Amino acid sequence: MDSDWQSIDLANPTEEHRMLRKMIRDFVLEEVEPQALEYDKHEKFNQDLFRKLGDYGLLGISVSENYGGSGMDATAVAIVNEELSYSDPGFCLAYLAHAQLMVNNLAHNGSEEQKSRILPKVCSGEWIGCMAMSEPGYGTDVLGMQTVAEQDKNGNWVINGRKMWITNGSIDENSTPADICWLYARTGTDSKGRAQITTFLVEKGMSGFSVGQKIYDKTGMRASNTAELVFDNCIVPPENVVGNPGESMIHMMRNLEIERIGLAAMSLGIARRSLSAMNRYASEREAFGSEIRDFGQIQRHIGESWAEYRAMRSYVYDTARNTDLSKSGNRLDTDGVKLYATTAAKNIADRAIQVMGGYGYVGEYVVERLWRDSKLLEIGGGTLESHQKNITRDLAKMPEKIDE
Ligand SMILES: Cc1cc2nc3c(=O)[nH]c(=O)nc-3n(C[C@H](O)[C@H](O)[C@H](O)COP(=O)(O)OP(=O)(O)OC[C@H]3O[C@@H](n4cnc5c(N)ncnc54)[C@H](O)[C@@H]3O)c2cc1C
Repeated sequence: MDSDWQSIDLANPTEEHRMLRKMIRDFVLEEVEPQALEYDKHEKFNQDLFRKLGDYGLLGISVSENYGGSGMDATAVAIVNEELSYSDPGFCLAYLAHAQLMVNNLAHNGSEEQKSRILPKVCSGEWIGCMAMSEPGYGTDVLGMQTVAEQDKNGNWVINGRKMWITNGSIDENSTPADICWLYARTGTDSKGRAQITTFLVEKGMSGFSVGQKIYDKTGMRASNTAELVFDNCIVPPENVVGNPGESMIHMMRNLEIERIGLAAMSLGIARRSLSAMNRYASEREAFGSEIRDFGQIQRHIGESWAEYRAMRSYVYDTARNTDLSKSGNRLDTDGVKLYATTAAKNIADRAIQVMGGYGYVGEYVVERLWRDSKLLEIGGGTLESHQKNITRDLAKMPEKIDE
């Protein structure tokens, strides 16, 4: 038997992971935490701070060093997301949209030419990226998408349609689009009426590509920009098509797994911060002559939150450990961990507000923002219902997983 198996910390399995976590914790304390409340309040994306993540090698965390990345694994991705979300989940969502939805996708699915041309720019922070899949009328039902692309006689692709809810779609208040958009569009229809999907790399300045509107007044995640994107006879050259036309389902599937680990890890950061806040407050606050932590109902809030937090932590890092970023094949647990962790985070943030009473309801005490931010995690990257559907389907195909 391997003698040191009991000493493995799933959340920090190697010295490299431990150092990464320490580096981000310091960065978060010094640079992320001080701005979080303001940027949420004003619904602004902190572009300067975002670009700084490039200096720390975080924007290309899962990209090979040959293209300017840090060459790290899914556990490292989870660490970054957890630590950023401890302080500012909205800012982390912008990070996830860039580093996991766009950059990681290109690193694993792009051609050599596309990778060497684009990855160094998105890894350094010179370019900000987004991923556009959802549409005004199609979210979960993604294969119904109506954005279409047709090849013209010169070989260029002409794209028409609208994409909705795109994180980093606009990077400022002046409708400046993302520098690069990983776009899914319909290039054919199969016999069942479902879209045959192709991936396009649409760059800022390409004719017919613009921001429709920045979406304001979101419940949470207000430190990330969400926008509608418009493709109006948008011309994209053939060298910006990723893979073979009509075969992009595989890009989506491969990338959804890391997205879901990322979102579950964000939930973990929210849970840890909320638990820490309620635990501290329960000793500081007195009522009826004793600390409120002496009351059984407060103990239930803290006790249940601790147990759920520990369960999430194990499930997030166990799933990350079992996920190979270059392959798909871990849908059961990436759906499972996101299903469990997102609702657990929302419940823990909710309990933190309850324990902190009126103070918990005010921005300065942070937990109300985490509670608002946590709700999005039950919707984006797949709704709770879609995870339930996928898990039930997968367990019908692989019942042996239960007894493994
Ligand atoms: C802040 C924010 C940021 C986002 N960022 C991005 C982004 O960067 N890129 C991007 O492409 N998208 C993004 N999205 C979109 C997000 O992925 C979608 O909102 C999500 O997939 C759900 O789609 P929908 O909103 O159209 O809801 P719908 O799919 O219309 O769902 C409505 C309800 O019906 C349920 N439902 C639908 N189908 C079924 C079914 N078969 N069985 C049971 N229930 C079902 C859903 O679970 C949900 O409860 C973002 C959304 C938000 C709010």
